[in-house]
Amino acid sequence: MGRRTGFEHLLCYCGETGNELVRHSDRAPDRVGLPKRHLMQAKSRGGRLVIHHNHPQDMSLSLVDILHLVSRPGMMELFAHGHDGSWYWAESHRRRDGHDMVLHGANALVKAYRQLATRGSPLREELAPHLLNLALDYSGIIMYKFQLGQSMITSVASVSEDRKNWLLDCVKEAIRKERQIS
Ligand SMILES: [Zn+2]
Repeated sequence: MGRRTGFEHLLCYCGETGNELVRHSDRAPDRVGLPKRHLMQAKSRGGRLVIHHNHPQDMSLSLVDILHLVSRPGMMELFAHGHDGSWYWAESHRRRDGHDMVLHGANALVKAYRQLATRGSPLREELAPHLLNLALDYSGIIMYKFQLGQSMITSVASVSEDRKNWLLDCVKEAIRKERQIS
């Protein structure tokens, strides 16, 4: 459906029964939110929502997606589907500090991006959510699985293993330090 309209759409299932609960679109190309009743379920501990939505830009789960996932206990699983066959999936480890750690990780990623840019080796913007999610997975905040599409495979291949590891280490280290302080 999203392929035809270019908008984000979501499809929400019950993780226990597998029943479809709602389909929805805000008719926007870069965001879609849950209708009110389902948002209440997502925020409640008893909720068991499995949410699929499409990403017309083929990018990974966004920072906003992940913040929702870690701060809404009723969201069991979150999928984003690219229009190129790619998919990205995450589940929260439900840590109490999850929300803050995601924000610290995101800040560290921005800094690392800037550092690489000033060194004359900028990274592609579309990689940012994917790299953040990898670092959050290594840091035990989310579980993250994915199947990249062709454009993301090309983007990932444009980054050397060393640079990628350096960047992931920056983010992991920032999260680790923040945990020690708090
Ligand atoms: Zn999204």
